[in-house]
Amino acid sequence: MARNPRFDVLFEPVRIGPVTAPNRFYQVPHASGMTNALPHVRSAFRGVKAEGGWGVVCTGAVSIDPSSDDSPLPFATLWDERDIRAHALMTDAVHAHGALAGVELWHGGACCLNRTSRIAPLSPSGMPWLSTHVGFMGNLRPRAMDAADIKALLHWQAQGARRAVAAGFDIVYVYAGMGYLPYEFLLPEYNRRTDAYGGSIENRVRLVRELLAVTRDAVGTKCAVALRISLEELRARPGTHAASEAHEVVALLADIPDLWDVKMDSSPTDCAPSRFAPEGSHEPIIDFVKQVTRQPVVGVGRFTSPDVMVSQIRRGVLDLIGGARPSIADPFLPNKIDEGREHEIRECIGCNICISSWHDGVPVRCTQNPTAGEEWRRDWHPERFAAPGSDGAVLIVGGGPAGLECAVTLARRGYAVTLADAAPEFGGRLRFERRLPGLAAWGRVVDWRLGQLRGRANVNLYPGSTLSVDDILGLEHRHVVIATGARWTRMLYGAIEFPQGELAGPRVYTPDDLAAGVVPEGPVVVFDIDNYYLGGVIAERLAQLDLEVSYVTTAGSASAWTIMTNEQPLVHRALARAKVPIHTLLRVTAFDGALLSLAHVFTHAPTTLPCRSLVIVGIRTPDDSLIDALNARREDAGQAGIASITRIGDCLAPGAIVHAVHSGHRYARELDAGIDPVPYRRDFPA
Ligand code: ADP
Ligand code: SF4
Repeated sequence: MARNPRFDVLFEPVRIGPVTAPNRFYQVPHASGMTNALPHVRSAFRGVKAEGGWGVVCTGAVSIDPSSDDSPLPFATLWDERDIRAHALMTDAVHAHGALAGVELWHGGACCLNRTSRIAPLSPSGMPWLSTHVGFMGNLRPRAMDAADIKALLHWQAQGARRAVAAGFDIVYVYAGMGYLPYEFLLPEYNRRTDAYGGSIENRVRLVRELLAVTRDAVGTKCAVALRISLEELRARPGTHAASEAHEVVALLADIPDLWDVKMDSSPTDCAPSRFAPEGSHEPIIDFVKQVTRQPVVGVGRFTSPDVMVSQIRRGVLDLIGGARPSIADPFLPNKIDEGREHEIRECIGCNICISSWHDGVPVRCTQNPTAGEEWRRDWHPERFAAPGSDGAVLIVGGGPAGLECAVTLARRGYAVTLADAAPEFGGRLRFERRLPGLAAWGRVVDWRLGQLRGRANVNLYPGSTLSVDDILGLEHRHVVIATGARWTRMLYGAIEFPQGELAGPRVYTPDDLAAGVVPEGPVVVFDIDNYYLGGVIAERLAQLDLEVSYVTTAGSASAWTIMTNEQPLVHRALARAKVPIHTLLRVTAFDGALLSLAHVFTHAPTTLPCRSLVIVGIRTPDDSLIDALNARREDAGQAGIASITRIGDCLAPGAIVHAVHSGHRYARELDAGIDPVPYRRDFPA
């Protein structure tokens, strides 16, 4: 198919100093959880994006000195010459597809607690970084840098830049964002210096200016020098000579960097979850930059729609369309637009599971793209699939995320696939969840897969079909996949984390009851021991129905695990807006239909809440009645020509949608492929 001429502008080359990006698709630096210890995993992950049409592909943060040590969070290094080879694998992979490779040189300053190197952290004036994320908290305070330290920092940046050139990079960054060291110099609260680096805005910008200069000297005319900067806080501060301090900083450095990479200051606004921020949410902060500099500007905003991208360029907001999450969810996004297949883009849903992987300290995972991080490890290419290993047809029972993904991948391999679901529409848990406050974009998990399945000659779709064991035996497929999901239970836990059995009684509900249409009588208490998103979302939904709702959790905050996905601060704000009180560190001990009895998880102090209906968002258990019944009739199954019966997704191990999708994908990749004792390749430092 031919490209829609409306999108031609996206495929224009853009000059960035001495180098030229082949198009406007720019994968900005983003965390991948892949350190120098995983060089092949990393190069395949980045290389596939270049193959998919991203004109520039960058690394994540690359530390320039052991005094910038983020451990236990994963980070890359260019500390000495031995680091170069690991990065060269990536630049080779990116260049092989005609793209430019960028490197984000990074010093974390007071944000880094140097847990491994045990060097006293560096900062402008000894002010610690206040962390609200337990993963970043620590008990070591930074020291103030003296003139010799500043000289050393400039030297590390120059050395890092020289090594970056040797590793083959085309764009070398100075990073003054997200609370890291050069950013700390920009803000007077962190920078209380009285020397030439503190006080006036000219002085606070001096360090960034010098970092740019030493980088330029180090790379000569070989590479472009980019400045990545956070502008949210600076834009909120009125300037002396311009609209804001952000305007002043950009004006002071205007044409010094070859490229401006502009962003927000904190992870929840920068990598904003779709529950609370739409596509293009950075625009009100960064929209002025192009008016102040003549150099190209790149920015992000979870852009997945080519029309929105074109609008950003036509309206003079951006020159390059930055993508982190959209490039993870679909590494082939640019090529799909180029080939007139934009309707096939697997759009990021904004769930931020990818960022949670980094917080977890592991290589990136993605809800939409199960091949992310698996390109080298498992040899999963996002767009290429092995031919079927046999001509056996596959029956999949259950069309939730696991069954849908399994069906798509088997169909793309070329298997004959039948997908059946009891419900009148496919989607599994997402049939209900996508209709809850803020979760509409998550429906893309279902929509993209149905779009891929519909119209394929090798796929039969049967919604509205509850399959019994006899139905399955009668359908004569060689392989049967059970993807019947899980059900929510009424399980409670005791004081020392032992399951105590299910709470019986009137008006004790689970999310499954609400999905089935039950509307509880108020006052309602949502008791959350799942502690991911659903408890908070359900509380919000019930409040919209004008019910009196309280939210109770065993954790220290609402939707506690969403600290990993950048959603937590916004969950608290949403519940406050919905007038839902949050009661933390409490567990349910009894419920009599009028009063809910609770105990503090640490002190055991008892308390009560008025409550007519209780919704427990707790533990899920696999819906395994069908697979148990099938296994009980193995002999009949064999006679019906069934060679294998396999469970996937929540029916195997209940989890987040990302796990169900991965499970369905893995089954489809491994069918007839033979399974090694270690199912993935192990990487070693280069
Ligand atoms: P997962 O996240 O693992 O995909 P879900 O709970 O989202 O699991 O989806 C499971 C799907 O399986 C639901 O849509 C449900 O209607 C369907 N299902 C369960 N039992 C049967 C059955 N016997 N026949 C057909 N579909 C079933
Ligand atoms: Fe987008 Fe979620 Fe994938 Fe991250 S994990 S890229 S937010 S779909």
